Amino acid sequence: MKSFDVDDAITKLDQISTKRAKILFDYQIKSIQDLIYYFPRKHLDRTNITLIRDISRGEKYNVIGKVETFGEKRTRYKKIFQVIISDGTGLITLTWFNSVGYIKKLFKKEDIIAVHGKVEWYKGFTINHPEFDVLDHNDNPLNTGSIIPIYPLNNNFRSVGVEQRLIRKILLEVISRINSFNDIFDSSFIKINNLYSLNDSLKQIHFPKNLESLNKAIYRLKFDEHFILQVFMALIKKNIKRVKTKSLNDIGPYFKIIRDSLSFQLTKAQKRVIKEIHSDMKKNICMNRLLQGDVGSGKTIVSILSSVLAVGNNVQVALMAPTEILATQHFDSFQKELSKVKITCCLLTGKMKKKNRTNIINNIENGMISVIIGTHAIIQDDVKFKNLGLVIIDEQHRFGVGQRNKLTGKGKSPHLLSMTATPIPRTLSITYMGDMDLSIIDELPKNRIPVTTKVINPERLSRVYSFMREQIDKGQQCMIVYPLVEESEKSDIAAAIEMYQELKEKVFIKNRIGLIHGKMKSDEKKMIMGKFEKNKINILIATTVIEVGIDVPNATIMLIEHADRFGLTQLHQLRGRVGRGSEKSYCILVNRGESEKSSIRLRIMEETNDGFRIADEDLILRGPGDYIGYQQSGFIKYKIADMVTDGEIIKKARVLAKGIIDKDPLLDKHPLIKNRVLTDYKERLELIKLN
Ligand code: ADP
Ligand code: MG
Repeated sequence: MKSFDVDDAITKLDQISTKRAKILFDYQIKSIQDLIYYFPRKHLDRTNITLIRDISRGEKYNVIGKVETFGEKRTRYKKIFQVIISDGTGLITLTWFNSVGYIKKLFKKEDIIAVHGKVEWYKGFTINHPEFDVLDHNDNPLNTGSIIPIYPLNNNFRSVGVEQRLIRKILLEVISRINSFNDIFDSSFIKINNLYSLNDSLKQIHFPKNLESLNKAIYRLKFDEHFILQVFMALIKKNIKRVKTKSLNDIGPYFKIIRDSLSFQLTKAQKRVIKEIHSDMKKNICMNRLLQGDVGSGKTIVSILSSVLAVGNNVQVALMAPTEILATQHFDSFQKELSKVKITCCLLTGKMKKKNRTNIINNIENGMISVIIGTHAIIQDDVKFKNLGLVIIDEQHRFGVGQRNKLTGKGKSPHLLSMTATPIPRTLSITYMGDMDLSIIDELPKNRIPVTTKVINPERLSRVYSFMREQIDKGQQCMIVYPLVEESEKSDIAAAIEMYQELKEKVFIKNRIGLIHGKMKSDEKKMIMGKFEKNKINILIATTVIEVGIDVPNATIMLIEHADRFGLTQLHQLRGRVGRGSEKSYCILVNRGESEKSSIRLRIMEETNDGFRIADEDLILRGPGDYIGYQQSGFIKYKIADMVTDGEIIKKARVLAKGIIDKDPLLDKHPLIKNRVLTDYKERLELIKLN
């Protein structure tokens, strides 16, 4: 009998001809180790196969049956492909609506296939686009092992005879002949953390004894990948050159006065993040902290108190916001507090008169003004600071790195506080926040009455309109939001205008109704916002320009049209525009989507007001592409781990990885871990230092 080493080429195996090796090579399967790490796509649990006579519509099942017949059919719109299978107790039709040309080559009469999917009823049981695998006849699960691995195979594999059964056979042989794999963890680590050994895991993932051992194997193999990534991340963090700066050690005379004069108690979370920020600013290395907090969680007062701490050390503070409306609102909030202690504060936007601007710029340069709030206008070349010590960026994702650097470049390594109301899913933020520290406000002020959310079909709109009229009669205000799809921006605005006309003339005849959209002149927008703030407009119809920057506590209804076109996170942001006052507020989502998926998604909005949970759900539904870190995530090549669903494993891996790096920063005592980091992340080694 031959013996193998994991590093041997796959051609060492009798069953792998050069022709087969060539195909496998294209899929990065070169060594025996690669083959062992070619994990099953899923497992078929024989104990969980349902007979066709026992199924009912609307549920998901595993079914195994014989192909009785198949063929193409033409419907009014397109070609479809159908396969009918039977298992002796009944028939099921499998239907594909596209890729017919490709799918139809995969079936032969009498094939035994395993299918998985949701059973519907259309002139009989059907499954649309099932997951399926053609089994070998001898594999009939009724007389082989109870849990069968199903490998990802495609036509290229099949064209050279690499079928499920062949892979199983090879792996069975290989795994039984390799005595032990090099485990990156020693036995005590494995024991303490209740993990499977690598040996057991690799055996069990391919040939599980039972579901429990399969799950433990999957856990361990996922854990390995997350762990190595977290080690890599910890090494990056160690390697980041922290920039030296002046420590802002003093509390100064202003902080306490303002804190004690607030009309509310700071929440525990606000107190905690202020401490975190302060302890960063006290150090003589630059703070780089991201403050994350849901809409309405009270980030502004945190930024005010942080500014006051900085000014207490005789440095200047600059706050940059993405829009004029937002900058103005911040200015008002800052002014209200800062005037109590006579800290000078100014607003700088692009719309100012020249004389006024020159005056302000001079006072920034000579240090007369301590706190400068503005839009991009504050990064113009002629804006110079006397001693900028703290930079605050609101809605940080709306600025590019270049813009941020331009602002921090106006001081001698100022501390940096970024803020965002977009909750980043926890699994992503703990992984990707490499060089940034994270502060989270995870608690809303107590006085908030939760917003009630309702998803409705368009037919119920007239009832909602009369509810809105009742609220208006009581003195409340409403907002109606239309989605803006970029490529058809014009026609969407036209739709909003049309709806505005119709609502004005037919529905809200007695009410004052206003329209605001992105293509309006800034003055016009300001005028309309001003009227809405003063309750001279009862109903404001808006495209999504209001997403950031409206703070009208008297508004109690937010109606969102075509809610199905928005991401959940975006809906949550919009919802945050109501529920700011003392009256009960409502968010009504009009679902005009047809798919079941869209109503499942929207229902999540009814269930929770927790922005982080919503972000997690969004991540599960849409994948990580929409979030920060996406570009960075390209180099992570998980085989089995999943950024979206493995939150708990990631947390554990992170703690353990950090523990090891803290004690052994060059991984001298952990050569196997070191080796694995060097291979897995070989494209990114410039980010870390291991010798
Ligand atoms: P965001 O985090 O969305 O920027 P804001 O800072 O605008 O939230 O706060 C929303 C509102 O809540 C403001 O009117 C603010 O004065 C108020 N607020 C902030 N903190 C508290 C608190 N601890 N208790 C009560 N109200 C608070
Ligand atoms: Mg804010």
